[in-house]
Amino acid sequence: MPIRFRSERLEARSATPDGSGANVRSVEVRFDPLLGTTSRIAEGVKLQTADAAALQRFQTPDEWCPFCAERIEQVTPRIDPKVSDQPRIRVGETVLFPNLVPYSQHAAVAVFTPRHWLSLREFSPKLIADNLTACIRYIRAVHASDSRARYAAWNVNYLFPSGGSLPHPHAQVFLDPFPTTMMRLQFEAGETYWQENGTNFWEDLAKEERERNERFVWDAGSTAWMTAFAPIGFNEVRAVVRDRETLLQLNDADIAALAAGISRVLLWYSAQGYDSFNASLFSGPLEGAPWYRVNLVMVTRSAMLPYYRSDSMHLERLHWEAAVDRAPETIAAELRNRSYE
Ligand SMILES: [Zn+2]
Repeated sequence: MPIRFRSERLEARSATPDGSGANVRSVEVRFDPLLGTTSRIAEGVKLQTADAAALQRFQTPDEWCPFCAERIEQVTPRIDPKVSDQPRIRVGETVLFPNLVPYSQHAAVAVFTPRHWLSLREFSPKLIADNLTACIRYIRAVHASDSRARYAAWNVNYLFPSGGSLPHPHAQVFLDPFPTTMMRLQFEAGETYWQENGTNFWEDLAKEERERNERFVWDAGSTAWMTAFAPIGFNEVRAVVRDRETLLQLNDADIAALAAGISRVLLWYSAQGYDSFNASLFSGPLEGAPWYRVNLVMVTRSAMLPYYRSDSMHLERLHWEAAVDRAPETIAAELRNRSYE
């Protein structure tokens, strides 16, 4: 069965406050073409944007920040010598070390830069590529010493609304014998699609989205960029890395293409007035999976304001259903038509 983009538009009617007329608003329910999960594009949903003044106290050097250059060597843990003869992995400005909070059996933090603060406009392709390279080196080293650790992802929480606990820019490696729920759902659905169609869902998706040109954003090297038909978050952008099943298969050109795309999307996020985001780069099981492709998801979060309204309410947290404000097609057109030079 080909990829299906199913959506249902519903009308929400009410009377005006004085009873003299009618309010009609629309909500569109969209079904994810891989997972079948639903999301809602609802008129009137609002995500708070940034206020430069609210960021000032985080932009100055912080004498307690463990990721700043003066302290990183003293306070961050070293990699287990059984895994690496280097205590910390350094690539360009990135420094990677184990995470003291074990979100996975092998969890690592990869600090992007010694600089305590970066605006979204300052996440350059080079900073991102070096960070990805360091994280992939770590994943390769761990997997060589522990083959049970087969499920991996590169993740970023940027600023408090995204779940990040320290503003100093850093990425996190997830590496574990058990996939996360989203990984498992992707794996199961991807394998089923492969068995039923004899083709790879993500390759088909990239091709289909490119042909439709509604949500397609751009091609860059081995990567295809698009907005999600049924988003799980605000301003969601996705990328598929063609012909790559796992993070361990990414070469320097793949990493450069991913990094350049992420950097562009962050420029656009910043221009839209957002400053907090999440990103996850998902890998297939590390021994390889022909039915999977490395894929990236990025979303904006509520802006960093003193009393911000979280963008995660009962729908997102308890129903596992996103309610977002803008159509993915509108976002794709803006991303596509923007000048990044
Ligand atoms: Zn710092």
